Amino acid sequence: MMKALFNIRELVSAYINFQRAGFLMLSILLSCNKNYDPEPKPQAYVPPTSNESVLTTKTYNREGYTLIFKNTDATFALATREKMVNTFFNVYPKLATRFNTQAPGTVTFVIDPNYSGAAYAAGTTTTYSAAWMRDHPLDTDIVTHEVMHLVQSYSSGASPGWLTEGIADYARHKYGVDNAGGGWSLPDYSSSQSYTNSYRVTARFLAWLEKNVKSTVVDELNSAIRAKSYSVDTWSQITGKTVDQLWQSYSQNPAL
Ligand SMILES: [Zn+2]
Repeated sequence: MMKALFNIRELVSAYINFQRAGFLMLSILLSCNKNYDPEPKPQAYVPPTSNESVLTTKTYNREGYTLIFKNTDATFALATREKMVNTFFNVYPKLATRFNTQAPGTVTFVIDPNYSGAAYAAGTTTTYSAAWMRDHPLDTDIVTHEVMHLVQSYSSGASPGWLTEGIADYARHKYGVDNAGGGWSLPDYSSSQSYTNSYRVTARFLAWLEKNVKSTVVDELNSAIRAKSYSVDTWSQITGKTVDQLWQSYSQNPAL
């Protein structure tokens, strides 16, 4: 009987130990589970361009136009690329609609580490100096000037260079997305200037003519050049005055 009781006591003890062991194992499992969050942690936000190599060719399709962006310069900033791309899609459709509905539908941008100027346009390609964009990352409306040349697509010799560049800077003045941020603006008139000074000086003259003489003057000049019919007489055909007479009027009251 004692033996039997002992045996029962042993059995009870063994059972309790077994339960304790089981509880201990359950506790270990529960404490292990504390190392896992019941819900997965959200992934840290990664900007979509951060893993992209800057040394690449990337194609963008928006607004019915295609932009192929080529870069071979390791110092070129992705943020500058995005701003240039956004500038292109902002201004190009407007420029094409106003000045040349046959403007190229596919445009290529090249960032050139070996070009010593700022930028140039040829055919359907605009090329930008890598050093210029690195040193002037806010000058992204350089795009507006260059792509206006693609819209112009003037035949060789159809326009004097000062007028071609003046119209491109007029386009930048009118359609630029962030000229102020780029530190770019039209210069004040001065008596030392001439309409043949090109670029911003001519652009300001065109903006003044548009406001004070004829609202379609730039459109009509552009059309004449594109039709290869531009001559010095075009100014009087459009406005009734010679370009020298127009400049004389401008110089007397140049406020924009
Ligand atoms: Zn130009």
